[in-house]
Amino acid sequence: MSVWAILVAAGRGERLGLDRPKAFAKLGDEPLLAEPLRRLDGCPWVDGIVLVAPPDWEEPAILVAEEEGCAKVQACVTGGETRSDSVRAGLAEVPADALVVLVHDAARPLVSDDVVERVLAPLSEGWDGVVPGLPVGDTLKRVGSDGGVEETVPRDGMWAVQTPQAFAADALRRAQTDDAEATDCAGLVEAAGGRVKVVEGDPRLLKVTSEADLEKIAAWR
Ligand code: C5P
Repeated sequence: MSVWAILVAAGRGERLGLDRPKAFAKLGDEPLLAEPLRRLDGCPWVDGIVLVAPPDWEEPAILVAEEEGCAKVQACVTGGETRSDSVRAGLAEVPADALVVLVHDAARPLVSDDVVERVLAPLSEGWDGVVPGLPVGDTLKRVGSDGGVEETVPRDGMWAVQTPQAFAADALRRAQTDDAEATDCAGLVEAAGGRVKVVEGDPRLLKVTSEADLEKIAAWR
């Protein structure tokens, strides 16, 4: 089985307030991108990697891959306006004979071999997609623009979903039509009628959205 990883790193990361995209924020003394790239490259389940870089940051992204000695990076493409656009750009570079595509957010640097193994395993049971998640512990409320609570949403059966997300390559290609949009790839596969399973995620797969997240993740490494 050939497994290709798409590492999406083309977000602007405006909430961090930096002069550069989030993938180039400093994690310790390296650009953030170096950590997930090194981990995916070293993962025994991954055969090839497509890197999706922010516009005008393709060369620095390739340089990071070279400095890390990432031999599995086969292409670096320019990302799009939305995350779905960036995944589409990456998917176009995945060879037609790839059986499985793993999509991972560079903003979740601490991807592990264990979580990759957990999302890959159920694909052989016929699932179209497998995503890592954590059960939601807090009470969920829908809140209006004035801060008023509109609704308390029952949290039974609610999971917060992370990446890496694994897909049968055919199912992801069918779901990733030109204008399909969702905040994760599984959402597109579900909308196209695919069966998606949730497996145990990892709290260390926290997505970087603030400076405090970078410090937390640096300490967890
Ligand atoms: O914006 P969000 O935090 O959901 O981004 C999740 C991941 O998707 C990040 O790794 C980010 O770099 C990537 N992304 C992208 N292209 C975009 C928006 C986000 O590759 N246009």
